[in-house]
This record gives sequence, C-alpha cells and structure tokens, in this order.
Amino acid sequence: MSQPGIPASGGSLTGPQAQNGAASASGSSYTNGPIQNALLSAQGYNSQLPGSYSHLLPAKTLNPVSGQSNYGGSQTVTPLNNYQGPGQTLHRPPVASNAVTPSLHSGPVPRMPQHASQNPAATPMPSGGFHPGANVPPPLNWQYNYPSTGSQTNHYPRVSTGPTMSGNTNLTSHQYVSSGDPSLQNNFIKSGITPSTNNGSMMVHNRYDEIEGGGFLATPQLTDKNPTMSRSVGYSYPSLPPGYQNTQPPSTTGMPPSSLSYPSGPQAFTQNSLGANHLTASMSGLSLHPDGLRVINLLHERNMLPSTPLQPPVPNLHEDIQRLNCNPELFRCTLTSIPQTQALLNKAKLPLGLLLHPFKDLMQLPVVTSSTIVRCRSCRTYINPFVSFLDQRRWKCNLCYQVNDVPEEFMYNPLTRAYGEPHRRPEVQNATIEFMAPSEYMLRPPQPPVYLFVFDVSHNAIETGYLNSVCQSLLDNLDLLPGNTRTKIGFITFDSTIHFYSLQEGLSQPQMLIVSDIEDIFIPMPENLLVNLNESKELVQDLLKTLPQMFAKTLETQSALGPALQAAFKLMSPTGGRMSVFQTQLPNLGVGALKPREEPNQRSSAKEIHLTPSTDFYKKLALDCSGQQVAVDLFLLSGQYSDLASLGCISRYSAGSVYYYPSYHHQHNPVQVQKLQKELHRYLTRKIGFEAVMRIRCTKGLSIHTFHGNFFVRSTDLLSLPNVNPDAGYAVQMSVEESLTDTQLVSFQSALLYTSSKGERRIRVHTLCLPVVSNLNEVFLGADVQAISGLLANMAVDRSVTASLSDARDALVNAVIDSLSAYRSSVLSSHQPGLMVPFSLRLFPLFVLALLKQKSFQTGTNARLDERIFAMCQVKNQPLVYLMLTTHPNLYRVDNLSDEGALNINDRTIPQPPILQLSVEKLSRDGAFLMDAGSVLMLWIGKNCGQNFLSQVLGVQSYASIPQTMTDLPDLDTPESARTIAFISWLREQRPFFPILYIIRDESPMKANFLQNMVEDRTESAFSYYEFLLHIQQQVNK
Ligand SMILES: [Zn+2]
Repeated sequence: MSQPGIPASGGSLTGPQAQNGAASASGSSYTNGPIQNALLSAQGYNSQLPGSYSHLLPAKTLNPVSGQSNYGGSQTVTPLNNYQGPGQTLHRPPVASNAVTPSLHSGPVPRMPQHASQNPAATPMPSGGFHPGANVPPPLNWQYNYPSTGSQTNHYPRVSTGPTMSGNTNLTSHQYVSSGDPSLQNNFIKSGITPSTNNGSMMVHNRYDEIEGGGFLATPQLTDKNPTMSRSVGYSYPSLPPGYQNTQPPSTTGMPPSSLSYPSGPQAFTQNSLGANHLTASMSGLSLHPDGLRVINLLHERNMLPSTPLQPPVPNLHEDIQRLNCNPELFRCTLTSIPQTQALLNKAKLPLGLLLHPFKDLMQLPVVTSSTIVRCRSCRTYINPFVSFLDQRRWKCNLCYQVNDVPEEFMYNPLTRAYGEPHRRPEVQNATIEFMAPSEYMLRPPQPPVYLFVFDVSHNAIETGYLNSVCQSLLDNLDLLPGNTRTKIGFITFDSTIHFYSLQEGLSQPQMLIVSDIEDIFIPMPENLLVNLNESKELVQDLLKTLPQMFAKTLETQSALGPALQAAFKLMSPTGGRMSVFQTQLPNLGVGALKPREEPNQRSSAKEIHLTPSTDFYKKLALDCSGQQVAVDLFLLSGQYSDLASLGCISRYSAGSVYYYPSYHHQHNPVQVQKLQKELHRYLTRKIGFEAVMRIRCTKGLSIHTFHGNFFVRSTDLLSLPNVNPDAGYAVQMSVEESLTDTQLVSFQSALLYTSSKGERRIRVHTLCLPVVSNLNEVFLGADVQAISGLLANMAVDRSVTASLSDARDALVNAVIDSLSAYRSSVLSSHQPGLMVPFSLRLFPLFVLALLKQKSFQTGTNARLDERIFAMCQVKNQPLVYLMLTTHPNLYRVDNLSDEGALNINDRTIPQPPILQLSVEKLSRDGAFLMDAGSVLMLWIGKNCGQNFLSQVLGVQSYASIPQTMTDLPDLDTPESARTIAFISWLREQRPFFPILYIIRDESPMKANFLQNMVEDRTESAFSYYEFLLHIQQQVNK
C-alpha cells in the first residue's frame, strides 16, 4: 500500500477511500450525492424530486382549522389544550428573573460532588456550565491569535507530579468502526486482569483543561480481584510488524537495553521483540523520487499539473516509521522536513503549520477500552507509535523526552494475548486510535444528544418555501439522527415574536406558545419544549407535518433573530447540544438587529468592503453558547444581503458550521432545493461529537501560536468545540522556539475528547512524526505545496479582516516571491535565467494565482459580499482537500470516457479521466468537459460535440436541443451514460456538501462562471498564469 501512514496489514487505519467506502458499507453512512438514477435506489434517500413535496398534507394537523391562520396579531393558531387557552400570548410571569433552570431529565443520574477535590472516588460535575470559558476575553475579529508570550508553549506539563495512572482492569476492545456509527461496530472485548496497588495521586479536576491537559486518575480501581484472563473471544488483532520505537534524540545517551532484568510477568515474553527498539533512526532508507530533486524552470515547463490527483509528499523517514505514520488526509504539515531552527525556517520563507481533519469519517478505527490510558506523566502525551521503549518497563516520551513507567496492564497485549509486549499494543501500532475514556475524563455525566431547530417563519421565509423542504427532510431523517434513547429534540419559530412548541408526552397535539416580549426573553414551560424524541416522536412528526402550513398566510415581515437565539440558548444551556438556525433575511428587530451595509457599486473595489461584524452581539452569544456546550449551525437562505459577516460569528465561535443558499426559492431555484435536501440529509445523519475539546501538542522546541477554524480558544491552546463534526477542518501555525539540533524526529499529536451520540466519552488521537533537517534545500524538498497554500489561505482571510483585502492579496503574492527568492539566493548555486523552483513547489505560483482568483480574495467581480464572506468561512472551516478543490478545480474531458485505468468499487466501474490544465486552450468544440469546483460541477458542451455524446449521454438529438437550464443527466441505458453518471456520482460521494451539476452551452448564463474558474487564463482584472510567472520572475530576480 503506498499511502503513508497506513499499516500494511489490514484492519487498522483507513485508506483515503474511507469516506466513499463507508458510503457503501451501510445505510446509515453517508451517501452524499447520488445523482438521480442512483438516488432512486439508494437507501435512506428521499427519492422525491424537489418540486414534488410542496403539497404534502399532514395526516393529522396541528390546527384543525389551520386554514384560517389568523396569524399576524398576537394570537396563536393553536388550540392549547392544557395551557392557558387558545390565542394566549405569553408574557413573562411575574417571578421570572431566573425562571428557567431545568436540569437533565434523562441519562445517568448525576454523580455530583460539587467540590470533590479531595475525594478520590468522585467524578467532578460542576452543575450547569463548565469552566467559565465564556469569561475569557474574546479575541478580536477573526483572529484566533493569542499573544505569543514565548512562555506559552504547549508541551510543558500542566500537572507535574504524581505517578502514572493505573487501574487494574485490562479491558481492551478492538472495535472496527465502519462509518463511524458505534452501533455498527464489531465489539470484541477481551479482558486481562492484573492486580495493581498503585493508587496514583488523588487530584480531581473540574476543568476540561486539566482533564485533557494534565489530569491524573482520581479513581484507584481495585474492584476486580480476579486475575484471570478471558480468552473467550475468538478474534485476534491482525498482527502487525514489530513496532519501531527508536526516536531518541541522538544526543541522548540512551538507556541500555536492560532486557534481561525485568521481572517476569505471568507469561513469558519474547525478548527479541525488543530488538526493533534499538535500531537507529536512519535517514538512509529513503528514496525521493528522482523527480523530487529536479529544479524546474517554470517559464519553460509551465504545465506541471499532474494528470492524476496531486498526492501529498511522503516524509523523508525510514520506512519502518513512515509505515506507522498518520494518514495525511487526517493530519499533515506544510513542511514534511522540519527546519532545525527558527533561523532556518525564516530563511525558507515558507509558513510552518499543521492542517487537520481530526474527526473525518473513517472506515476502520481501532478503539481501545482500557482502564489505563497510558500518557506521559509530564506533558500528558498519549503513548503512540513514535515513543521509544528503553526497556520493557520504561518508555520515553517523544514530545518532552520524559521517561515513564510502563503500567503493568500495558504489559499484556490483547492482540496477541501475550505478556511482555508493550510495544505491540494497538496504542503503539496505530497513529490514529480512539480510546473509550473512563469517568475521569468527564466533568459531568455525558450529555444526551440534544437537537434544537430554530426556524424563521416571517413572510419572506415562507415565500422561499424552505420550511416545507426542511420539515420534510427532518421527517425523512428523524430516525437517523445520531443518538439513543436519551435523544432530545425541540423547535422554536420566530418572526417578530418567538414561538415555542410544547411536545410533552401524552399531549394529543403539539401546543404553540407565543412570547411577544422580545426585549426580555423568557422560556415558558421549559421542561416540555426539549423533549425525549422517542417518547414524543408522534408529536414531533405532527408538528413537522403541520409547521409549513401554519404560517402560510403570514404577513409578518420582521425578523427577531437575536431574541430567538437568546431563547434557544436559554433552552439549551442546561444540557448543551446542537442548535440549527434557519434564517432568510437581515434580522431587523430586537437585539442583534442589523442594517444593510452592502453597496452594490463598491462590490468590485478591494477597499471599503465590510468584512468585519457590525455588532459583537453574535460573537458574544456564541461565546455564551460555547461555555454551555452549545454549537450553532447557521443555514442562511437568502436572496438579499444578510450580513453574513455579522451572523456568521454565531457559528464561528461556537464551533458550528455555516451553510449558504443564495437566492433559495422552492420554485425559481429548484437546484438549490435539491442541494439543501441532500446537504440536510448529510447534516442530520452525520456523526456528531458533543462537549468536545481538542488539544494539539508538539515536540519540545516547537510552539503552536495561531489557530484557524471554527472554535473558541479556551485557556491558551485548548480548543473548545461544543460540537465536532466529520466535515470540519482546522489549521494551526507554528514556530521553532528552541533549536531542534538534538533530535532527528519531531512529533505532533492531536487529542480530541468528545461525547459520542451514544453517550460515551471518547478520545480520538492522531500522531504525526516528521524528520528534522538542518539544510535549507531539504526544507524546500519536503515542502507540501497544498498544505502551504491551504495555510496561506487561512492566514489571508485573517489578513483581509484585520487589514484589507488588498493587503491579503499582496501577502499571498509575496509568499511566493519571498520563498522562491530564498530558494534562488540560498540554494541554487548558479543563477540561471528563468524562474527556478524546486520540484516540490512547482505548483506554488499556480495555486497562489488560483487563490487570488478564488471568491474570497478576487477583485473586479460582482461577487456579492455575503458570497465572499461565505467563501472565507469555507476557507477557515473546510478540510484541505475541499479547500484545494474550490480553489483550483479539476477539469476533465468526459465525452470520450473509457474504462481504461478505471476504479472498481463494489462492482461499480468509475472512469478516471486525466486532469487537464485550467485553460480554454484545453477545451475543444468537439468535446464535453466537466469542471469539478468542489461545491459545483459544470459540464461544458462544445458546439460541435459528437452526436454520440449528445444522444447517448445527454439524451438529446442535437446541440440546439440541449435545454437552456439543465441540471441533471438522464439515466440512459447506454454504456456512455453509465460511465458519465458513475463518474459524477463518485465525485459527489467524495464530499460533505452536494455539488450542483450545471450543463452549460455557449449561450448559457453559467458560462461566465465556468470561464472564471479557468485559472490559467487572463481575466479583466487578473493575470494569466504566464503573466503571473513573469511577474514573479521579475520580483525574484531583482
Ligand atoms: Zn511527555
């Protein structure tokens, strides 16, 4: 297997096909985008066509006389069975200043010594909120910087005393997770029990920071006194080649292999198993592809774009280490060879940083259940494949070099059922692994999954028809919401007032409660508004069937979004969870009301555009949400300016996501309807983690200083993620704080602690290992141009906001000029004419030019402000692979698809046409070309396109009969149709959002969009690729 980071034998990590593989593995997994024909047979899909459900009639209506809908005043449209009578508008009850503090209704009974700092058996559970993260002064604007004080490196111990944790039950299960759904896991548990007397220190933590960062086990576990090993499970972990744990810095004298001095365990261990420990990390075993050493004159060799997807560079590591390394789809670094010093890094003029996709859907994931999670007692790093075993009883941390004891339980290898093989444990054989966290990793009992939906029901909203779509999607996917018997759900609607819905079990119908006092919002009947989904499912279904009709005749145009969000926040505060907000216009009533700021004639100017929020209301509320473990996802469906720069803050700081459907309309824009429906399916059914935190550690000497993504930075370097989803990416910037001259290898580890939808506390750990180099040329040779471009894009978004768009654009161009100048002056010995670049950076100018033409940073267009802001949100929140696709799309010729070189996936044959340069030179009138721009697919048909393609794929007789707006391919019974559809379906399956397909003729209005993505061509306001190269060359050769 050629993918780095994937062990050769099966059964541990996933390959890059994980996502689509998962799609075919089970019905509950993600299948995002079958096109129409595939859609009809896909399970779990709503096969209705967009237009077909607008007339759905609820079987049982909430309001028998809903037609009258005398809405618009202060009357409700519902009969309120046991509330205060129909038509009741609720005002704040007299004694209501603290009215609402419900507690968890379901789930484990809180074990809650509120202050248990001396109680070893206690699980701390601060009631209500968590550590007051919300009190941390918020960073300004889009910046996630914290002041780099120099003393705040992330590798220093937070708690530095106490023995390693130790339990006595060695329970390890290997759960092969398909599609990330715990219910689908094969759970193989075997237990081996060894007595332990090590009670550890008795610290108890009441903050996530300490739990993730520096905690020690508080609970000695001496319950199971029976030292027997269960061998009843007939499953054996696939045996992997011996570990390779020789990452000691060369300067370390190293402990002698005292392999003869161990006490013998219950089972004889095999001494030779430690042999691998003492291999020296050798840089020799590696071979760069000869191409990798080439120096390229880009002015002569402009077409450096590979015809197959660009692969990330393989770190220059001994193959035994690289074999265990983290999959680059999950974790990669801009420089796969880390410069030894900051001076060397400065010389290279390349950004140093990490790009992460930590919660990506994985086909297979080793899951360990053990009372002992082995971590460095100094820096709290999780044991990983790149630690070194000094002997059987001691391991040395690869991040801080602390020597730690190997706990007794760790001596037993549940895979081989052998004793004395700590280095063969799954934790030491897998760079990606998940732990079932014991109660010490909880601040409170794991929260139940809580889903609250907040719907705009103003006149404008009803006009778009979105509510039909969303309610239908919810009905279709209600049983697929991740969760268990504890799942809770609730609904709020709003226009100029806020409407709540009592769904209390036993009611014959949902009850609507209206609160019209939006200045001082309160929650009526809080206990009946977020209800157990199982117990109240019929009421929920009733409500979803009725809701779209209830407001059908509303004339209310105002939008009190801010008060609605405040209400939703109050409702969710006691539990945390996910808030899904649907908004269709600029909010104009109550707190958070906004004013139009876009001036159409300024669209093309790079100055004076409003990229910063106009109010801090949304950010402040997001921080409150974050403190209560609530994430807010915003669905903006609006044809008009809605100030996404301000609204987006609600998601950015609460670790939510933003979805944007410009000009959504159920009749006028059917493809948006389809897109919303597909994306909602993914959104509602994808994996979700609650009350999460993530910390990234790196080897001593390196320092992380800036974070990018949607989250809030709590306490220096702990990212607060009230929700985590599989479609979110993150990036961090780093510097070399202390010289790394004493080490040949450095490691990076991300640890994501979260609560699964099944109520388990889990920790997902990824560890990446990279070589350190002292030579500038080696730094260049190891550059990862995609990761660099992705990180620069993140930095440019910040720059656009804090300075200006033109500043950000200049910075992007300067990044190319500076690094290539450094290469020319410091690496190349002879100064040839031309633009000389190392092979690793051959696409750097092209990708930066593509970024300049990307919606986030482009100038001279009529890009609407909200669209630009949305593009910027995507830069920050998308995993690298999608960011690159939206920046530099893939172009294929598809009128001559063949099975040559095709992929075969589950009996499907997926053609793999070569990728073409983005230039009209590559088009020809007798062909058809598909451009995959990530969130949109454009199929351009040439005027003289062959009759075969027209009839066998498009199902039309001639070019002239191609419909003006065609957004789907017919499913024809021809091999050409099958191939084209298979290819497009496969592209769509690869991603979390649903790319609309536009079929474009020469006269089509979409043609301009197609041409705009031709990055290598000149546009009115931007260089062609060749002109850009000349510009760079001039600057470099100055
Ligand atoms: Zn350590």
